[in-house]
Amino acid sequence: MKKIIFIDDEKEILNNYVRIFETSKESSSELRELADGFFELEEYRPAKSNPLQDFTCFTASQGEEGIEIIRKELQTETPIQIAFIDMRMPPGIDGKECAKRIRALDPNIEIVIVTAYSDSNLEEVSCELDAQDKLLFLKKPFDIQEIRQLALNLTTKYNNERIKDDFISNVSHELKTPLATILGFYQLLDDETNLSSEQKEYIGLIGKSAKLMQGLINELICSVEFKKQGVEIEKNQVNLGHYIKRIYRSLGVLFENNPEVEFLIDSNNLPTQNYSFDELKITQCINNIVGNAAKFTTKGSVKLSCTRLGKWLEFTIVDTGPGIPREQLDFIFGKFNRVENKHHQTPGLGLGLSVVKSIMDAHNGKVLVESEEGVGSRFSILIPINSQE
Ligand code: ADP
Repeated sequence: MKKIIFIDDEKEILNNYVRIFETSKESSSELRELADGFFELEEYRPAKSNPLQDFTCFTASQGEEGIEIIRKELQTETPIQIAFIDMRMPPGIDGKECAKRIRALDPNIEIVIVTAYSDSNLEEVSCELDAQDKLLFLKKPFDIQEIRQLALNLTTKYNNERIKDDFISNVSHELKTPLATILGFYQLLDDETNLSSEQKEYIGLIGKSAKLMQGLINELICSVEFKKQGVEIEKNQVNLGHYIKRIYRSLGVLFENNPEVEFLIDSNNLPTQNYSFDELKITQCINNIVGNAAKFTTKGSVKLSCTRLGKWLEFTIVDTGPGIPREQLDFIFGKFNRVENKHHQTPGLGLGLSVVKSIMDAHNGKVLVESEEGVGSRFSILIPINSQE
């Protein structure tokens, strides 16, 4: 089933929207009756069904009302897939605010903002809304055909993405169980003392590959979950002095097999007091960035530091790896995006930095990168701190 909502303060316009879909249903059943009379034999019936038949239309005359309907439908098996939102809807919230709240509620919904030619702040609207690839502007006056095509194409796009995400999620979860068995038996064998050095080496390889696979599967699951449910931030008070040392100790293992690379911590200016942030998710960001630095750096050092920068708490990871081409510095934060060249031939799915970006966006923070090819990279994550801290 396909669900679509129209939010507009003018009743007449809402009725017209709904009529587009109702007319299609009526005409399709009329056509079928005609066809029934014309073709006597069952097998000669035209198989082509009307694609607009499956649509269920909701309407709301104010933004808040529309948001409530979307919220309610989100609890069902089939959430609303497209919201057509009028830009101006006095006396309530305008289209921009409405779209922002809908996006916060459902990161996957396709939004079409319907505007008059006189609305000039479209650029501003698109800058303020997340998920630009799920946002369209439709200028008034529009053609019925435009609404039909948008409804068909956007619901197909939405459903295809859902199928893809469900597939990734199901496969990843199915792989988890056999992998846990492999890791369990690897651990048993690894603890065995009566083994030759050759056997130890092979067992070590099994363990390394299984752990790599576990990391990839976890990244896939995390990325799909963030997309489906959004990123929920749960802040807690973190003592930075202890936190940084804990992180540094736990990440040291990434460099154990890489004697040419030193993992360092810059202990100058380390803030020691308590700060409020989501410890688990910020740790995930630092792990991903340091994990990349360890993966791509073959000689030199990777240095972790943390400083307070005005209203921000900044964690920085500087490496002496291959660097990233300037024109790809934005690209690497996209899903499944990886630099393709001889320095970037390590395993990975291209999801780690997109996860970092999602977490930092949800934290109202930033992730920045500077890099020079052949010299190294500097990644930093900035967490906003409140005035009492
Ligand atoms: P993955 O590491 O799994 O490929 P990421 O999203 O974490 O995925 O990173 C995307 C790409 O960005 C990497 O494939 C790599 O090309 C580039 N990259 C990230 N960090 C570094 C780094 N420290 N040095 C060089 N290239 C990097």
